[in-house]
Amino acid sequence: MEHAWEVERMEQLFRFIEEGFDEMVAIRRHLHQYPELSFEEVDTPKFIAAFHEKLGHEVRTEVGGRGVVATLKGGRPGPTVALRADFDALPIQEENDFEYKSKVDGAMHACGHDGHTAALLGLAKALNTIKGDLPGNVVFIHQHAEELPPGGAIAMIEDGCLEGVDVIFGTHLWATCPLGEIGYRSGEFMAAPDRFVIKIQGYGGHGSTPELTKDSIAIAGQLIVNMQQIVSRRVSALDSAVVSICSIEGKNPFNIIADSVTLGGTVRTFKEEVRQHIENEIERVIRGTCLAADADYTYTYTRGYPALVNHQAETEFIAKIANLAPSVTSVQEYSPQMGGEDFAYYLQHVKGTFFYTGAAIPGRESYPHHHPKFDFDERALLTAAQVLGNATLQYMENNQ
Ligand code: MN
Repeated sequence: MEHAWEVERMEQLFRFIEEGFDEMVAIRRHLHQYPELSFEEVDTPKFIAAFHEKLGHEVRTEVGGRGVVATLKGGRPGPTVALRADFDALPIQEENDFEYKSKVDGAMHACGHDGHTAALLGLAKALNTIKGDLPGNVVFIHQHAEELPPGGAIAMIEDGCLEGVDVIFGTHLWATCPLGEIGYRSGEFMAAPDRFVIKIQGYGGHGSTPELTKDSIAIAGQLIVNMQQIVSRRVSALDSAVVSICSIEGKNPFNIIADSVTLGGTVRTFKEEVRQHIENEIERVIRGTCLAADADYTYTYTRGYPALVNHQAETEFIAKIANLAPSVTSVQEYSPQMGGEDFAYYLQHVKGTFFYTGAAIPGRESYPHHHPKFDFDERALLTAAQVLGNATLQYMENNQ
């Protein structure tokens, strides 16, 4: 920002965003009451499309399935900046009791995607107000189905949502990080979240005569112990990886030895070679354990999203400009997170960055994301909109 009028325009944008704060909160609370599950979104994309149409933006619906893409054309030529917000909810029964709690049985906005949408719509309105002065175009990518692989991003990209886009920015509200904080990281930021299912096929029988059986539960016990050595003994200490067995099923009456047992779990990695190595090593451990017990097995490994890798220049740019937003009190470099995000796909096609916006409610216990009592401080909507809005403006002015 070299000129006084650039500072003035930024302050004008912040003012318009702030004036729209009550409406952002109202939108968030409306969406919160009517959550829709991944790939089943109907009313949410309609609501979003209607909002943009009212502002006069060019709107495409059913992008890649249920996504909505709106375009705001600035009054002056310049680059095209994409901003992405996801809008799906989770199959969780809400346990909050505020007046805007979910009205849909078994569905809840427990990851803050209602907030992402509200912040982006509020920002769209504010940017629209200054569109005559805007040196470039804004593409608002409202994405369905972030929570359920294969996710909405990949289909929206195939359907052209990134056409003509020069750069993309996105944020996740984070309820366990302090309000007013922006968390950034260049390079590997979020993990590739894969899943596996293992079925051990033994030979059932009477609990009194194990010698006539192949006890699937005993084999599963050995397998669980053996798998603990994959990360600790077969992956370099300098690489990050998690192997978690999260379910085991082998229910029988007290006097029957289990014929089969099914185990399920997740693998989190950042590097492709580590990911492939762990997939292979799990099979080797299953094969060895089952061979010793003369049992059979089936093993399915399903890949989720790729690791999210932020681009360096765009990440440094966000880290530099975040402080200018009036509601930002701290800008921190974060450690890599083992959670996954399908924003990863956009970053494989265009440069950009994904950052965290702190949203903890001061003085209260913060429930983690995906918890039935999940909630966040709505003032974080302002922070998310201010940082994304200013990133849009500054990027345009720096890239004329
Ligand atoms: Mn999420």
